[in-house]
Amino acid sequence: MNVHEYQAKEILAESGVTVQRGITASNTDQAVKAAIKLTEDTGTKIHVVKAQVHAGGRGKGGGIKLAKSLDEVKSISDNIIGMNLVTPQTPPEGKKVNLVLIAEDVYYPGESDPEEFYVSVLLNRSTGRNMIMYSPEGGMDIETVAEKTPHLIYTEEIDPNYGLLPFQARNISFNLGISGIAFKEMTKFITCLYNSYLKSDATLFEINPVLKTSDSKIIAVDAKMTLDDNALFRHKEYESLRDLSEENPIEIEAKEVGLNYVDLDGNVGCMVNGAGLAMATMDLIKQSGGSPANFLDVGGTADAERVETGFRLILRDPAVEAILVNIFGGIVRCDRVANGIIEAYKNMGDEIKVPIIVRLQGTNSGLAKDLIEKSKLNVIAAIAFDEAAEKVQKVLL
Ligand code: GDP
Ligand code: MN
Repeated sequence: MNVHEYQAKEILAESGVTVQRGITASNTDQAVKAAIKLTEDTGTKIHVVKAQVHAGGRGKGGGIKLAKSLDEVKSISDNIIGMNLVTPQTPPEGKKVNLVLIAEDVYYPGESDPEEFYVSVLLNRSTGRNMIMYSPEGGMDIETVAEKTPHLIYTEEIDPNYGLLPFQARNISFNLGISGIAFKEMTKFITCLYNSYLKSDATLFEINPVLKTSDSKIIAVDAKMTLDDNALFRHKEYESLRDLSEENPIEIEAKEVGLNYVDLDGNVGCMVNGAGLAMATMDLIKQSGGSPANFLDVGGTADAERVETGFRLILRDPAVEAILVNIFGGIVRCDRVANGIIEAYKNMGDEIKVPIIVRLQGTNSGLAKDLIEKSKLNVIAAIAFDEAAEKVQKVLL
């Protein structure tokens, strides 16, 4: 689950990470009130208006603007709230901004060259360990740094038996080229950041930029955070952080009915039992020149009701031009699955406008194929894997 910058900063602050302070607003009145309150609390006269959407690169897309007066807070918020923000990380059509964060300006006016760093904490899946990735080249996207100056990206891997050791945190400050009071501040910042990452069961924290002010403060100016969905059951406090408007509506619906659905870009809808077979099916579709529209694991019980729910979910995606059902009938016999498909098809009547290719392999697969062929529905039966792929390709041509 991804959260908004303002929510991520609240989580960070709880663990003692210094963050750029801010107050959210969903209309211009609230924005001006937030700015006045921030001036009272922090003394800042300049404010930053920051669009709250689940995407980075907001600055480049015009979703982050400096306001030098309350009038500017008002006019800038008026522009940003309701705007369709397009950044390199949003879908091409952009994302609608419903909320802004009015934040204190932490870049001192007149300061010639504020130092910005990049710090992230993430799970290294190949070693199974958490690591801190960091760079003195903050403020720009890390992909560009990786391409142009890869030697300026450092990593520190954390042994789960010992946790982040003090010398590792100091090593990070050292490699970032920091000295004096700021060295200690950065070391503390890194330690608190890592603690927060562990405590929140996150899989990604990305703070870009981390700012070092001329008076040696270390501040998280931005915060991107991904929380581990599989650990959310032990964080009831994070339930309210979910922003459904940022999630794929089909995925939300699937979750409600207990199906594992992931939306993809292609045109072939897939209904499969078992995650491994689902992955193999997507490969097969790719190999035969198609492109999967989704990942859907219907699990062990492929009965009529479940198949129907699956069809309905898949068909909500307008890009779907054909559906490939690929089910291995082990305990659940193929003839039962076939009957389930036929029944679901009949229930849905003319809601199904795309051809369905069904590949049933396993117990009673021959019987299943006969059942489907005799049903006279717009369903094409196959037994072999490549036979199914070929038939998908044929209907797409
Ligand atoms: P992103 O574009 O989505 O990554 O959003 P960020 O929160 O990282 O902000 C983008 C850029 O805006 C930062 O790299 C800063 O250069 C600038 N910025 C953010 N906060 C402030 C601030 O308080 N004062 C000034 N002057 N610039 C800021
Ligand atoms: Mn950023």
